[in-house]
Amino acid sequence: MALFRKKRIRDYLREEKFLKEYRALLEQRRGNQPTKSVPKVKVEEIKKETMFEKLSRTLSKTKTSIVGKLNSIISKSDILDEDTLEDIEEALYTSDIGVKTTELIIDKLRERIREEKSNQDLDIKKLIKKEIIELINKTPIVEVDYKEKPHVILVVGVNGNGKTTTIGKLAHYYQSLGKKVLIGAADTFRAAAIEQLETWANRTNSDFVKHQMGSDPAAVAYDSYKAGEARDMDIILIDTAGRLHNKVNLMNELEKISRVLNKLNSNAPHEVLLVLDATTGQNALSQAKQFSKTSGVTGIVLTKLDGTAKGGVTIAINQEMDIPVKFIGLGEQKEDLEVFDPEEFVKSIFS
Ligand code: GDP
Ligand code: MG
Repeated sequence: MALFRKKRIRDYLREEKFLKEYRALLEQRRGNQPTKSVPKVKVEEIKKETMFEKLSRTLSKTKTSIVGKLNSIISKSDILDEDTLEDIEEALYTSDIGVKTTELIIDKLRERIREEKSNQDLDIKKLIKKEIIELINKTPIVEVDYKEKPHVILVVGVNGNGKTTTIGKLAHYYQSLGKKVLIGAADTFRAAAIEQLETWANRTNSDFVKHQMGSDPAAVAYDSYKAGEARDMDIILIDTAGRLHNKVNLMNELEKISRVLNKLNSNAPHEVLLVLDATTGQNALSQAKQFSKTSGVTGIVLTKLDGTAKGGVTIAINQEMDIPVKFIGLGEQKEDLEVFDPEEFVKSIFS
């Protein structure tokens, strides 16, 4: 009886093996590779690597500038003494990392020297990278599952910083996550501004609400909300004007838009994104401080990081502002927006 059972099992296994081989052969005939030889796909790993490569490529000017300065310091002396620390301080400061952040890093390095028995043979670049990573606020803010819809995002900032372009990129980003997007043209100051936004709406297949040039921006915001609600939109992106020559008027205008939205929905605007131009370096930081005082900013988008050596300001803003940097702009195409990951950012700059 036992022998019979053993034979049955052997036959069964043989049959299984035969079936597997037969299936593989069929797959091969169909032109498919046998699934057996395909390794388990590590999607996340591939994605991470591509992201790192993209950051390294687009942030190359910032990277070359910071690493270049540090390399020339290290080539003069590989001992981490007070003179070298002073040079590092200057290098970081002139890389737009900001006074406060630079001071913190130098203090940490000084502490490190005290801890180590020798200040020779230290990998200075690696040390700085490590200290910055420890110092920064690390959590990337990725919010996509909003509690209610429509989720209204008001986009503010000084003209030329990249608001309209960022709205186009955000529309693409949210759509790639399966969200329905409506764009409202509340920068009514110039006809060209409305046209530019409409081009982005067409390019990204987003719904679009506009009024005539010169009309009341708050009225556009009102209609955008109503249309978004009626059409069951997930996201409403509202563009605004940013003429700083009359700061009081600008802030009043933004406040009025917020007030109108707030009457329609007590949670709206759910988000106020401040767009800053990284090429302006420390000026971006001071704009962040100015805007955050008045217009209820909940997040920052730092644009044009691809074209500047001043990307160090991202670290200064991350460090000195309570408001998180949520996205970074890395070019003029709709795909050139990334969720800001502080640690990945620092790693790609100091790699
Ligand atoms: P707005 O006045 O704030 O609406 O700014 P715009 O969206 O019109 O952008 C001003 C200029 O900056 C345009 O020429 C954009 O193409 C350019 N721009 C915006 N974002 C980026 C970016 O991330 N990288 C680069 N290289 N250019 C950008
Ligand atoms: Mg604009």
